[in-house]
Amino acid sequence: MKTLSASATVTINAMAAKKKMNGERVYNFAAGDPVINNHHSIINRAVRQTEKKFFPYPPVEGIPELRSLVAEWVNITCLTQYAKENVLVTCGGKFALFAIVYALLQSNEEVLIPAPYWVSYPDIVKMAGGTPKVVPTYSENGWKITAQDLLQHINKSSKMLIFNNACNPTGVLYTKREISDILAIAKKFGLIVISDEVYSGLVYEEPGFISSGSFPEHRERILIVQSCSKNFGMTGWRVGFVLGPEDVIKRLAVLQSQSTTGVSVISQWGAVGALENAEEVNSYVKESMRKRKDLFVSSYHSLFPTPIEKIKSALYAFVPLSSMGVQNMTDSVAFSELLIASDNIALVPGTAFGVDGYVRFAFSEQEENIHQGLHVLKHAINRLVGETS
Ligand code: PLP
Repeated sequence: MKTLSASATVTINAMAAKKKMNGERVYNFAAGDPVINNHHSIINRAVRQTEKKFFPYPPVEGIPELRSLVAEWVNITCLTQYAKENVLVTCGGKFALFAIVYALLQSNEEVLIPAPYWVSYPDIVKMAGGTPKVVPTYSENGWKITAQDLLQHINKSSKMLIFNNACNPTGVLYTKREISDILAIAKKFGLIVISDEVYSGLVYEEPGFISSGSFPEHRERILIVQSCSKNFGMTGWRVGFVLGPEDVIKRLAVLQSQSTTGVSVISQWGAVGALENAEEVNSYVKESMRKRKDLFVSSYHSLFPTPIEKIKSALYAFVPLSSMGVQNMTDSVAFSELLIASDNIALVPGTAFGVDGYVRFAFSEQEENIHQGLHVLKHAINRLVGETS
């Protein structure tokens, strides 16, 4: 535990929350949390359930209604072939990841993690006694990992790959060919592939999202992590899923039975409400996030000289400090700390994702905050550049 760090996004969020509590206006570009009212299908289903007035422990694996709906939803949207028995309901996608790594990794085994990575992956691996093996990717190559990159980092201790498509923080989407090549390498070296697909429903570009689960020949080695958090705008309900081979789901359920016991039954019924109207609820969130993305991009381009890379999915822009005119500062932590302390602008430093010299903006806040926040940022940067030149 001593080697672990608090999630960087959570830390910056805490600083932002403290300022807010003191009555200050904060421009929160740090939290990837869709600020949007829950769709009425979610609320209605959960409220209807409260009329029962009696809530015993739910099944550890999740309520059967939800497990079936999840299998159906993923089969339709991701062209997979899962059944209820292939689904475990977890406390968010985060616990899904933790459960998989904790249950399947032996101490000192290595987990390949392409960088930039989601902030929690390395620490989850460390908590399970494993070793994160970071595999860098580069903006010149579209931030994509290739089969060749993997080959250079695989050794006899390699056990798993955490593959995040659609990617936080870069929004990268992989093609069918690219995924197929990566899975072929995983098969050759006997790697388990954790395919983190929690942004599969927030994709803004054609040809759209391709799931690792849509390759039947690799079915046995793939564990998909899914979540209601982003796809249905339900972060606070804490409902996520693992989809994978039935024997692995049973092993993860044992771990869950000795830890969380499962997910709040009211949250599970809220998730049932989302999944009964999955297309409508997802479109409601996605179209709102698309509008915020477009506003973020147009406001950014009206203020800063260098265009940002096209955002294909998720809720983020991963931006080099140099493109904002900050030429003599490459330390993303110092930059982010300065901005929250002096201008109430919350960003996440690139180091949290394994790449310095960048910051991540989330555009999941309400539109007026995005617009005004970018103007405040522009003023702050003008001042900084003035101070340092
Ligand atoms: N995976 C990725 C890539 C994420 O960005 C997040 C949350 O930000 C998660 C997993 C976990 O999400 P949750 O636990 O809310 O389902």
